[in-house]
Amino acid sequence: MKRILLMIGTRPEAIKLCPLIPALRKRGLEPIVCSTGQHRELSEEAFRDFGVTPQIVLDTMRRGQSLTSLCARLLTETGEVIRRVKPDCVAVQGDTSTAYASALAAFYEKIPVAHVEAGLRTHQPRSPFPEEYHRRAIAVMATVHFVPTPTAKRNLLVEGVDGHCIHVVGNTVIDALQYSLSRAETAEWDIPPRLVPILFTAHRRELQGETMRGMFRALRRIVEEHPNVIAFCPLHSNPSVRETAKEVEGIERIRLIAPPGPVRFHRLLAKCKLVLTDSGGIQEEVTALGIPTLVMRYSTERTEGIEAGCLMLAGAHEDGIAAAARELLKPNSELYESMCHPSDVFGNGKTSEKIATILSQL
Ligand code: UDP
Repeated sequence: MKRILLMIGTRPEAIKLCPLIPALRKRGLEPIVCSTGQHRELSEEAFRDFGVTPQIVLDTMRRGQSLTSLCARLLTETGEVIRRVKPDCVAVQGDTSTAYASALAAFYEKIPVAHVEAGLRTHQPRSPFPEEYHRRAIAVMATVHFVPTPTAKRNLLVEGVDGHCIHVVGNTVIDALQYSLSRAETAEWDIPPRLVPILFTAHRRELQGETMRGMFRALRRIVEEHPNVIAFCPLHSNPSVRETAKEVEGIERIRLIAPPGPVRFHRLLAKCKLVLTDSGGIQEEVTALGIPTLVMRYSTERTEGIEAGCLMLAGAHEDGIAAAARELLKPNSELYESMCHPSDVFGNGKTSEKIATILSQL
């Protein structure tokens, strides 16, 4: 039986690779899950939601650790796992340090690398940092590239990747979203009647500090200017983000909450009328759900969501974010209406099956 070693370090990797596990089993492949512990608590929550127990658990995080030492530790430890397990293929997802270091370790060990969610590009090496670089570097090492969209395929072709190794399959995040929305037994969110729920998330490394402080101040202005709005703000575990969130502590109608696991998060997201985020995965989810969204960044690698009309690149400046939200929240906003259309540009929930079928045939 062919063995696929799935390397997972962070919440988005867990959310986007867990749906692949049953699909691999269905095709007669043996998935082996290694959790690198990069965002231990957040990824554990996602594992729980999807009923996954990693067979291998690493302990790679140290307090105040630099990117350099994290990456070095990940490379050493994932290399040891790959040598011990001797898988037929190593699957990595996206653009994290775990994905980058695991792909490099597999490459050194001459084990084929399958890159899930390949080909996304902002074309700016420092935005998102260091993820844009990671994703580009993995493309050089990967044997098979699972891209979500034709645009992502074009990005790889331009970089010289062999077209026969690229498969346009959609994004597994939509599989995960559909799974969550089907979990009707989950406790529902308590949203006070007559209030309009909006969602705010911020965590990107390159925005942390003064820029992110302005993003939180924008949230405060939005809620203060709109007495009918209630904002849910799941707080990332990053200490710098938590410190910055003090900008909105104690403000009426801003709920700072512990980050819910993906199933509860998706069910909250589906109820929200407006989203403000710097997250990558959430841009894909809101596009599938047709929720107007302000992307609090200066560039995005999810341009398909902008073309689909759901996403608006608002930048990360307080005034710009507050002004864009004002436009969307005004009564009978035509702009809002024009952004309310669900789109399947990021997939239709069948991505994991497609990937598993292709891997079983390799
Ligand atoms: N998410 C979650 N709980 C939260 C916030 C986000 O489960 O409190 C999920 C979300 O649905 C999406 C993923 O986490 O699938 C996005 O992760 P994140 O924003 O951390 O990373 P990025 O996508 O920006 O790499």
